[in-house]
Amino acid sequence: MYQELAECGNLSELLKNFATELDQYLRFEHPDAVSSIDSWKSALGGNVPAQGIGSEQLIAEMGQYLIPNGSQIPKPGCTSFITTGASSMGVLASLSGAVVAPQRVGMTAYNYLEELSLEWMAEMFALSPAMKGVYSSGGSIANLVAIGAARQWAFEKLGINVAEEGMTMSCRLYTSSACHRTIHRAAAVLGMGRSAVVSIATDSHGRICPQALRCQLQEDMTKDIVAVAIVANAGTTNTGAIDPLNAIADIAAEFDIWMHVDGAYGLPGILDPRIRDLYQGIERVDSVIIDPHKWLGAPVGIGATYVRDRNILYRAFSQGAADYLEGACTDHNIQNSMDSMGIPYHDFGVELSAPSRGAVVWALIREIGKTGIQKRICRHNDMARLVADLAHQHPNLEVVQEPTLSICCFRFVDQSVENLNEFNRQIHRQLTKNARNIPSTTLINGQLVIRPCFVGARTTEQHARDLVNEVIETGNLLLSNAS
Ligand SMILES: *Cc1c(COP(=O)(O)O)cnc(C)c1O
Repeated sequence: MYQELAECGNLSELLKNFATELDQYLRFEHPDAVSSIDSWKSALGGNVPAQGIGSEQLIAEMGQYLIPNGSQIPKPGCTSFITTGASSMGVLASLSGAVVAPQRVGMTAYNYLEELSLEWMAEMFALSPAMKGVYSSGGSIANLVAIGAARQWAFEKLGINVAEEGMTMSCRLYTSSACHRTIHRAAAVLGMGRSAVVSIATDSHGRICPQALRCQLQEDMTKDIVAVAIVANAGTTNTGAIDPLNAIADIAAEFDIWMHVDGAYGLPGILDPRIRDLYQGIERVDSVIIDPHKWLGAPVGIGATYVRDRNILYRAFSQGAADYLEGACTDHNIQNSMDSMGIPYHDFGVELSAPSRGAVVWALIREIGKTGIQKRICRHNDMARLVADLAHQHPNLEVVQEPTLSICCFRFVDQSVENLNEFNRQIHRQLTKNARNIPSTTLINGQLVIRPCFVGARTTEQHARDLVNEVIETGNLLLSNAS
């Protein structure tokens, strides 16, 4: 019956050709999208088509013009973004949710896996057993939800329900200059303003100095300011630095302030026994986030916020009663998956309609287990250390920041080069042009460095070696061109 409708074609037939095109992309033999930009823009573009082309031709068109002109990010040699190519089972689990569970609610297996996968991650990453989670689209929203919970809690202590009444006093968030800028955005969206974010002094590794934090708090306690949260990092985006969580947790307890940890990238690092100690105190925090679409290899669009008490999330984010929900679910005498919403994630954050992300995370863990994920984390941390070792061995390379996790910040140096920042920028531009090894760059104390971040499941030790070699070759070439 449905086959009569053009837009409801048989998936297994459609998928066969489609999957072939995707696999072809994953061989990474195609030229970069920009090399044929006019061609694919004109093929894909134009005015609104009055007549459709049908699924078969559409798949052919996607195979010819869309898929081959995707992003460099899934490439194993691409180490620039912390987001990476999704692992295959993540893609398939995500597809299954798109087909059979377009919402995360209801008494379905998908709703069940939403909670179970959050519990699995909490257990794997040694969070307090009391921590409960909610998924969202990624670290941006996950941080927003956590800071929203902190704001709710801080004002409730003063007898104010800020979600009802709105902001009545100015607020502050305490973090380091290395924090992700989504913290500033969360402050802006939540009505505190970007200027509420206070940068605490850091040590040479970019980690918050607990003593400086305590001094700032002591000073602010005398003012009419609501201290909403201390935001610590478990893996900064820039260098992978991990703030001294235990010492910060002591201070948070001393001043009775909410402690949030941004572990969007770095939380899975706790699985590496060599650095596990750096995470001491993670079990004491009030909220923490992690992005499964980073180190866990989920397709992009999955972040998670954990809090000690989900009721705070409910008070901060509940939509309240609505006519269109009245009587939708009986929530007792459940005889059908539609009789209950299941766990009301839609009132724990800022999204109502949302994909079933739990099934994806569940699949990622189910496929290779905690051990498989642990091996990947250690392998990537090894690669960053290998880059550092190779750089230490080479007279023209300098390690500017030793790796904590899977990021290594290094640069090319030579006494004949006057402007090292410009020189390393040129090396980076050439690497991007060659498109074999694509790291990013960042500034560390004003020094421009090459910054590979190893998170891709397809990335191997050889990619790390190739990257270092290409930096050396490119640097030498630039030197000989200059002389
Ligand atoms: C990537 C990142 C974010 C933002 O996450 P998105 O998923 O890109 O929204 C926040 N914090 C840290 C530390 C990150 O690395």
